[in-house]
Amino acid sequence: MTYDIIVVGAGIVGLATALKIKEKDQTLKVLVLDKENEIADHQTGNNSGVIHSGLYYKPGSLKATNCIKGYNMLIEFCDKYGVPYELCGKIVVATSKDEIPYLHKLHERGTQNGLTNLKLLQKEELKEYEPHVNGLEAIRVPQTGIIDYKVVCEKYAEVLQESQDNSLKLGEKVLDIKTNASGSTVITQKNSYDTKLVVNCSGLYSDKVARFTEQKMDVRIIPFRGEYYELVREKQYLVKNLIYPVPDPNFPFLGVHFTRMIHGGIEAGPNAVFAFKREGYTKSDVNITEMLESLAWPGFQKVVSKYWRTGLGEMYRSFSKQAFTKALQKLLPEIESKDLKPGGAGVRAQACDRKGGLIDDFLILENKSAINVCNAPSPAATSSLSIGDTVSDLALKRFT
Ligand SMILES: Cc1cc2nc3c(=O)[nH]c(=O)nc-3n(C[C@H](O)[C@H](O)[C@H](O)COP(=O)(O)OP(=O)(O)OC[C@H]3O[C@@H](n4cnc5c(N)ncnc54)[C@H](O)[C@@H]3O)c2cc1C
Repeated sequence: MTYDIIVVGAGIVGLATALKIKEKDQTLKVLVLDKENEIADHQTGNNSGVIHSGLYYKPGSLKATNCIKGYNMLIEFCDKYGVPYELCGKIVVATSKDEIPYLHKLHERGTQNGLTNLKLLQKEELKEYEPHVNGLEAIRVPQTGIIDYKVVCEKYAEVLQESQDNSLKLGEKVLDIKTNASGSTVITQKNSYDTKLVVNCSGLYSDKVARFTEQKMDVRIIPFRGEYYELVREKQYLVKNLIYPVPDPNFPFLGVHFTRMIHGGIEAGPNAVFAFKREGYTKSDVNITEMLESLAWPGFQKVVSKYWRTGLGEMYRSFSKQAFTKALQKLLPEIESKDLKPGGAGVRAQACDRKGGLIDDFLILENKSAINVCNAPSPAATSSLSIGDTVSDLALKRFT
């Protein structure tokens, strides 16, 4: 079986990329492969379900530009195909005086990133939006929304498969990619497929799949599990929409928040703890080989030696519900440990370079036979169509 392009990974980035290729060139034969029997089974299907507005990201970074462009593309897609979403807005709350300067900086940053109608709220105004929140000042971001990204992916897959030459095969783990003069052979446990180009969107395994075609991979994926609690029904009145803390500029992905879910209910979380397995959704999930690979990576060792205190704090909150509750009480003092029941978990694919840099922006590495999306962290679900647009342009250049 011969294809023009094989996309590895039917998460939101892989599906959006295939969709954009199809939109731009109907003549190309595209195949999407995923090892699971369902699409969006990993990061995409286990995330917070937030449509991010682009408030936090450094102006001009790939994250900032893709978030805002992707946000608009996502809303347009959902309107066109009837995918449910809700733009309920969020508030980012400063709970101590030392957070206020950074809160103001975020306000400036959001404005620079093109967000309109951002509102700085004083203590009393904040209560009008979230009466139970404890805060000194806050920003209200009206653009932020909620959605189910698995439903988005189902629609991407449906639209993609309307064309006969585009297909999606599940339950096919890519085990190897052999490159040759005319392209590559992608080997799964069931089949072999010839293709002119491979697009690697395999999330938590993007470094491993990249290594099939790329000799100089100086980036490793380190998995961080994000655990959630859910608010018991009787206490859901405490949260109207989305409530976020001011992020730590050194660790923007840390800081538990409250999220109203599109299908009902309120989630609290996620934290970020080193996972002993790439797809380790529970504390007891361990894969010795994967764990040792992470621990042996010089970049991760540097991260641990520098930030072990922060890591231990996250670990402690993971094992102690009391400590997790305490972190949440900063935002919502009325909440008690008994108001929280265990929820789900997701695992983030965090790319880490050899020098100990946790790569914050999207990272795409190209070689003769493949385009490797090696880092697609949050807000990649929001930005998926914009990332797909960029990656599809890179792919189509190879066919002109
Ligand atoms: C806890 C958490 C909360 C988040 N919250 C948000 C949010 O609210 N909003 C937002 O915009 N973003 C959020 N994100 C980020 C977002 O979910 C991810 O950036 C995005 O889903 C990445 O998509 P992906 O397609 O790259 O990866 P994935 O969804 O992980 O997809 C990769 C796919 O590749 C497949 N695969 C891997 N290896 C192979 C192989 N060898 N052969 C075949 N298939 C393979 C996997 O099975 C998987 O389906 C969150 C992430 C996490 C973890």
